[in-house]
Amino acid sequence: MENAASRRYVFARGYIPMLKPFRRLPFAISVPGRMWCACLLAAVWLPALPARAQNEPVRVIAFGAHPDDCDLGAGGLAAKYAALGHKVKFVSLTNGDAGHQSLGGGQLAMRRRAEAQEVARRIGIEYEVLGNDDGRLLPTLEVREEVIREIRQWKADIVIGPRPNDYHPDHRYTGVLVQDASYMVIVPNIVTDTPALRRNPMFLYYSDRFTRPQAFRADIVVSIDDVYQKKVAMLDAHVSQFYEWLPWTVGQLDEVPKDPAVRKSWLATRPIAISNVRPEWRDAMEKLYGPEAQRIQHAEAFEITEYGRRPSEEEIRKLFPFFPTKWRSREPTGAISDRLHRLTCFSKLTFGCLLTS
Ligand SMILES: [Zn+2]
Repeated sequence: MENAASRRYVFARGYIPMLKPFRRLPFAISVPGRMWCACLLAAVWLPALPARAQNEPVRVIAFGAHPDDCDLGAGGLAAKYAALGHKVKFVSLTNGDAGHQSLGGGQLAMRRRAEAQEVARRIGIEYEVLGNDDGRLLPTLEVREEVIREIRQWKADIVIGPRPNDYHPDHRYTGVLVQDASYMVIVPNIVTDTPALRRNPMFLYYSDRFTRPQAFRADIVVSIDDVYQKKVAMLDAHVSQFYEWLPWTVGQLDEVPKDPAVRKSWLATRPIAISNVRPEWRDAMEKLYGPEAQRIQHAEAFEITEYGRRPSEEEIRKLFPFFPTKWRSREPTGAISDRLHRLTCFSKLTFGCLLTS
């Protein structure tokens, strides 16, 4: 029967021989000793299994309820990735066929699909508009499986969607659908017609201003000062929305200039397009950008969800190659904390085995 004394004996029986190889250090280390050292060093210093091979493009897929939601939440981020040769796809879960004061149905859906394709052409991304009806989206199993398929086919490193707290039911259910896909993308027995991913991607939420049950938390903030005009050009392609439907909903249709060039300049001054930095994002920006954060005016912010991969700071900097490489926050970095964590696990594993063997 195992008791404290026998556990100590087992511990000593395993531990003391293991230390023997170190008695003549540094002049002679036996083969078992070398193996033990190699294991310890590997556990502490080898980087975590990389999510993707070095120099491979980052693959990002963003979901929105309507064919302009991704553009508003992550248009600047997409333009930055595309300019560096990375791969971005926007997916609208509905066809947008309810978003207009005088058009509707198939005619509006066709117009909005064409607007989305124009966005894709302007910045060099893919844009897919699914056939679900606008204003009638539900978090069904069928749509969830469509989302799982999209993420797998894109081999996504990063998946972006809205939080499931929003004024619009389509936005809410898009948040639920992406959230519900966030583990299933790695389960091979689900959606068997599309191979499962081997690693769960990082899942992010777009920023929003809703506060119940809790406010958005900015984990990653990306400056879009350098692509701000590209983001305006993306929104400008959605003529039916930014020059017709949305001004109509707030009684400002008469204020929209008729000339296409003038109305684009007008759009660039509207709060919906400006993407101003919010005060509550400043802490995250200073960690990522250091002193440069003070100069940033336009930005997009994202919250890392709890259901996807939880990246270290090191991995965030690899997946978001936009932050100053010379800057590191003074807090313990992800790389160092990862290594400390691996050392702790290794120690527990080694000595735990000795105690119970
Ligand atoms: Zn929307």
